[in-house]
Amino acid sequence: MGKALINFRRALPMLWRASPRWSLWSMLAMLCEVGFGLAVLYVIKRLVDAVTGLVGIDSASGDGLLFLVGLAAVLTAALLAARSLSTLAREAQGLEVADYLDRRIHGTALDADLAFYESPRYFDTLRRARQYGRQRPMQLTANLVGFARNGLMMIGICVLLLSINWMLLPLLIVMIVPALLVRMYFTRFMYEWQRERTQLDRRSGYLDWLVTSDTTAKEMRLGGLGRYFSDRFRRIRGRIRREQLRIGRLRTVSELLVALIGSAAFFGALAFLTVQTARGNTSVGDLAMFLLIFQRAQSLGQETVRQVSSLYEDHLYLGFLFDFLSIEPRVQSPDEPEPVPDSPATGIRFEGVGFRYRDGSPEVLSDIDLEMPPGRITALVGANGSGKTSLVKLLCRLYDPTAGRITFDGIDIRHFDLNEYRRCFGVLFQDFGRFADTVAENIRFGDLRLDGNDPALQEAAQSAGAAEFIERLRNGYETRLTRMFDEGEQVSVGQWQRIALARALVSPSQYLVLDEPSSSLDPQAEFELFRDCRQILGHRGALLISHRLSTVRLADCIHVLDNGRLVESGSHEELMDKGGVYERLFCRQAGGYLEVKGER
Ligand code: ADP
Repeated sequence: MGKALINFRRALPMLWRASPRWSLWSMLAMLCEVGFGLAVLYVIKRLVDAVTGLVGIDSASGDGLLFLVGLAAVLTAALLAARSLSTLAREAQGLEVADYLDRRIHGTALDADLAFYESPRYFDTLRRARQYGRQRPMQLTANLVGFARNGLMMIGICVLLLSINWMLLPLLIVMIVPALLVRMYFTRFMYEWQRERTQLDRRSGYLDWLVTSDTTAKEMRLGGLGRYFSDRFRRIRGRIRREQLRIGRLRTVSELLVALIGSAAFFGALAFLTVQTARGNTSVGDLAMFLLIFQRAQSLGQETVRQVSSLYEDHLYLGFLFDFLSIEPRVQSPDEPEPVPDSPATGIRFEGVGFRYRDGSPEVLSDIDLEMPPGRITALVGANGSGKTSLVKLLCRLYDPTAGRITFDGIDIRHFDLNEYRRCFGVLFQDFGRFADTVAENIRFGDLRLDGNDPALQEAAQSAGAAEFIERLRNGYETRLTRMFDEGEQVSVGQWQRIALARALVSPSQYLVLDEPSSSLDPQAEFELFRDCRQILGHRGALLISHRLSTVRLADCIHVLDNGRLVESGSHEELMDKGGVYERLFCRQAGGYLEVKGER
């Protein structure tokens, strides 16, 4: 309960910030609604009193009665107007709140450490906050306003009921409270269940994606893999469905019982008042009044119960939302950042850097010392899992080292503004982004300050060896690279990689980081890329990661990583002379080529 209150206490200022004008209108309209609603009931009560007072008396005071009827009609019209305004204000407020929350969620998601994307916990928090979609913030505002309105109405109705007979109040409570408890119990129950289910849902969503996605369509058709995943999907959904039905059955029975108790309370009260009226203790007017108000109280009670359970869900939603919004990135800019050097002198240095992904997990990089002087090509080689990509993530400050430090011109990179520092790197990741947009835009994303027709885009495409095939596309640089839209075209993985390379090249960075840049290129394209490498780089330094040792030959300095440690460093010639790991690897790769040649 305390937690619910805390969540709502945090939510109210948020609603206000998101939409101050409509929040005010919404409150005003709600107060008018309650005021006019109670006034209508009161005037009807006066009318009934007046009519019952006249029964049996031949009086001409019909004018007074007509006045009361007219007043009730006018108040009803005002009530309807207030209700309409209230609905409109609530809707507008809800829409503004939903937009505001989207902005906050996007902000948090973009600032979050990369580590969050690699942890299932993050996805669960994000998914739970997102699965309610844009509807929930709107419902939340509607529920809060509605709850306040019904609460005030209920108080008014209780006062009116008390004026008839105090015994009616306990009966009203019997009618409303069990329904409230049952609903709250089930909401809590569903929440726990859904919380457990998020993982299952994610797994089934993934399987569904596997079976229906275009990227996996080829594999799904081989070796019965598609059927296998589809069966697994069916089993998971079956389990979720059975559990959901079980809960549904339980809820139906409980709600029926609650409704029966409510009806019993109503008829009990009716019997009580009928007997009282027959004995002359209560007037006929009171009985009529009771029927009117008790019905109203009953529907209000039901509505309130629904709202309370909705508010309970809102509170859970708010819990997820605040959980997510309170994620604080560990990798942050300092309060007073140092300026990033424009024309670096010594460049990047790793000084005794160690790194582990999680506390307690083994180190994936240990004791790394290396330099990346500006304008020079540095290469990293090593087997899969030796830590090359992790080193790139540290370099771009997607993570911070757990030991040692990285400096740029002698300054610890944690002292720079994060975004400004990251701008120093144009990176071609192994799993580079493929944006469903035009070729020109896909390149421009490397430097958003460029105009869509800037010649720099074509120059970058030229350097990346992409210009030729782009010009052959149906709409050249304006071709959409996607299958999502009709006019889109699909290009090969190698062509995508060249576009991504052009994107990395167009960025005004001081270092270019190429993680396996030739993995999807054909040998000719690879040869051309590396032949022209120095020219492409211009003044920039580069970090080159490659399995193919023939491509790293051109580097000024080659570092060999093994199991997270630097085992050798030097130029190609130096390392070959040394006769260590590099030389063995190089000869093995070169030998492979020579053997093939020899067999011909
Ligand atoms: P490489 O790029 O040389 O193939 P990586 O840097 O990707 O190597 O991986 C180095 C080690 O770090 C591997 O043992 C890998 O399992 C581990 N690793 C990589 N990414 C993560 C991650 N996000 N969380 C935990 N461990 C990771």
